[in-house]
Amino acid sequence: MKYNFDISYGASYVLDTLHKKGYEAYVVGGSVRDMYLGKRAHDYDITTSATPEETRSVFYDLPVIETGIKHGTVTVIVNSESIEITTYRCDGEYTDSRHPDSVEFTRNLSDDLCRRDFTINALAYDGEGEIIDLHGGREDIENRVVRAIGNPYKRFTEDALRILRGMRFSSVLGFEIEERTRQAILDLRHLLKKISKERIAEEINKLLCGKNAREVILSYSEVLGEIIPEINIMRGFDQKNRHHIYDILTHTAYVVSNTEPEKHLRLAALLHDSGKPETVSTDENGEQHFYGHPHASEEIARRFLNEYKYDNATKDRVLLLVRVHDTVIDEDKVYIKKRLNRMGKDAFFELVQLQRADNKAQNPIYDRTEHFDRVEEIARQIISESECFSLKDLSVNGRDLMENGFSRGKLLGEILDYLLKCVIEEKTENNKEALLRLAREQFGG
Ligand code: ATP
Ligand code: MG
Repeated sequence: MKYNFDISYGASYVLDTLHKKGYEAYVVGGSVRDMYLGKRAHDYDITTSATPEETRSVFYDLPVIETGIKHGTVTVIVNSESIEITTYRCDGEYTDSRHPDSVEFTRNLSDDLCRRDFTINALAYDGEGEIIDLHGGREDIENRVVRAIGNPYKRFTEDALRILRGMRFSSVLGFEIEERTRQAILDLRHLLKKISKERIAEEINKLLCGKNAREVILSYSEVLGEIIPEINIMRGFDQKNRHHIYDILTHTAYVVSNTEPEKHLRLAALLHDSGKPETVSTDENGEQHFYGHPHASEEIARRFLNEYKYDNATKDRVLLLVRVHDTVIDEDKVYIKKRLNRMGKDAFFELVQLQRADNKAQNPIYDRTEHFDRVEEIARQIISESECFSLKDLSVNGRDLMENGFSRGKLLGEILDYLLKCVIEEKTENNKEALLRLAREQFGG
């Protein structure tokens, strides 16, 4: 059967050029998998029989970056498109559960396909309609299965990152993990300790944003527990509270899948109730409560985000969302303007989204959809009418105050905050004259 994949100009140029010089060359890996699924590939990896030196001399007239010359990878820039070209290789022994001790270049495509992680990632496309599929990758894609190539125990022991990659592909593609591969993932989860925190975080982010995140969180919670130990306690933690119908982990997995696939939102969803077990109390009617759990969850989230080296912007946003996830938002314009001021517009709408997702994963008797609809409507109206809720929208600034006799210094900030508060509370119009008058009344000047 011939395949007619629509590959980019750069990829097709690289294949043609290598073929004309007598080398074998194929598109390989995720891009072939995605094209086979009918999706457009996002980047193209080329595998070739040419050694890195030979590749460099074939593309002598193009910019070439030596991306990973030791591993046989060079990047060629074709019309500003970057194409990674890697020499066929087979990996030597692995002693650190992550990197091969050595790599060996080979002239056989079959060696190169053997070293790849999953059958679905080991298809090679020649650019002219042929697919080389030595591991049943097409059948697994059709059956929506993630299966390790060879013995999964050996492959995950070689490189433990593959454990998370497998879970990530299952989540993102919505594929099931084949039974033996699944068992090996669960049995070898402790090897994740050997993997760098940054690489783990990258996989976790992608896994959480996958369309099957809920299923993967629930089926592989022990693996995630290697990374976030609190997850092991959340699993099966029954919540004896009228609002809840699920244990904490099941609830959490639903909240994750109920939010948009944005990294920080899904991290917040994953961690929002992680502090519940340590704050549980039981009242005289036998009902459980979790007073102060947002704060406890925030501390757990902080530890995780620091340990896994998340950037500050992600950290701040996740912690904010976890901290306020349980705060009731009044259906009141002044209140909402204050929240918009304190949190910023984006975080505010994310908070409403998280609360909606949280509520939807609870007892449906207490459905609060209408409340969230009203809150969002009020907020949208505030924004569409350009109502002032932050200093930058205030009709006076520090310079205006100075020009009107107020002296520079700490007081200026205090005056501006006061004026903003009066505008938000609708005690004054947001115009210069009225604001300056108010400033004089309150602060002299
Ligand atoms: P994505 O859609 O995220 O780019 P991908 O399958 O292309 O997924 P990459 O990390 O870009 O993943 O790697 C490209 C290819 O290299 C994979 O498809 C796989 O064949 C191989 N590969 C990557 N990482 C590993 C690994 N840790 N072990 C074995 N093979 C790997
Ligand atoms: Mg890729």
